[in-house]
Amino acid sequence: MAFPVLPPYTKCDLSIQDRFAQLDQGGKVMAEYIWVGGKGELRCKTKTLDAPPKSVDDLPIWNFDGSSTEQAPGEDSEVLLKPCAIYKDPFRPGSPNILVLCDCYKPDPDGPRGLGAPIPTNTRVYANQIMDKVASHEPWFGIEQEYTLFEPDKKTPYGWPKDGEPGPQGPYYCSIGTENAFGRAVVEAHYKACLYAGINISGINGEVMPGQWEYQVGPCTGIASGDQLLASRYLLIRVCEQYGVVVSFDPKPIPGDWKRAGCPHNVSTKAMRAEGGYDAILKAMERLGAPGKQEEHIAAYDPSGGLDNQRRLTGAHETASYKEFSWGVANRGCSVRIPRMTEKEKKGYFEDRRPASNMDPYIVTGKIMETTVLPDC
Ligand code: ADP
Ligand code: MN
Ligand code: MN
Ligand code: MN
Repeated sequence: MAFPVLPPYTKCDLSIQDRFAQLDQGGKVMAEYIWVGGKGELRCKTKTLDAPPKSVDDLPIWNFDGSSTEQAPGEDSEVLLKPCAIYKDPFRPGSPNILVLCDCYKPDPDGPRGLGAPIPTNTRVYANQIMDKVASHEPWFGIEQEYTLFEPDKKTPYGWPKDGEPGPQGPYYCSIGTENAFGRAVVEAHYKACLYAGINISGINGEVMPGQWEYQVGPCTGIASGDQLLASRYLLIRVCEQYGVVVSFDPKPIPGDWKRAGCPHNVSTKAMRAEGGYDAILKAMERLGAPGKQEEHIAAYDPSGGLDNQRRLTGAHETASYKEFSWGVANRGCSVRIPRMTEKEKKGYFEDRRPASNMDPYIVTGKIMETTVLPDC
């Protein structure tokens, strides 16, 4: 008998797990520390606390073996975890158990709380510096995260026939029905998990490609946007683990005439949202269209320095070519879309449609502020 390519997936009975989840914890708190690993993947490990923290600064700095995540050499492997944000843990309900989103630093005995410089993969520090500088502009971000569900073989999109493709695109977007909507149980569980955790999830919908879905996180202000988006991805991956389904954030998960996956960023500042804010939006368009800016932004909008988006932003399937910047009212074939309502009311927000589904939200939100608002600060 041939062995399967991947190990068989144990289907643990979740109702048995539930029984243990209800056991008393003796007042202790399970704190799930979460961080971004060396290849952009999310990692986590749990620490028992004696009492719930009063604030994020109340939580202990922790560490992990960076040589196992390609974030430190073996002979000096310790990387420190600094807590940044706290959410309720939907996987351990009933007690005040928490998720703790962290960013990563080198140790330094002389540094504040023993923290040294941020490690190279810590992009939150870059975003946080920019968000601090533009704070008086009160930037809001609403991020539309698209993703694709896969069978555990990581080759067959969830619900697709093993050897072939479902019928062509058309019926699947915002669809209902067994023949159209593949994986809704995952989507619904994730939606509830986000609401329980305290993520500002603003909606969900089925996407154009069967097995592909979207949720939106926002509006969130400043650095909270990147924090919440990462936490929402963490929750999605954990929900998928329970269902034995694999989630992919790849921007072009299936070759051929199938929809790409993106992460449009809806953006506004206090001035854009106020009466007559359209002028501030036009100013942002001018800055995004300045010489060299398209290349700079495309390089920042996926983890491969723009290569992923070359597969995605082809000019087809409601995308604009990655080669040049364009904007338009209600036009989904442009780099940036200004909603019809924003043009009509002469205030509101713009939608940068270029970020890929696997983008780093700290880099993208930081970059958008750096280009459109920072020159005024
Ligand atoms: P689309 O019509 O492009 O599919 P969605 O409804 O999926 O739009 O996502 C729009 C996102 O923009 C939501 O997360 C919403 O909360 C957010 N949003 C709404 N108003 C603003 C604003 N003024 N600034 C930033 N984001 C906003
Ligand atoms: Mn949307
Ligand atoms: Mn979409
Ligand atoms: Mn959109």
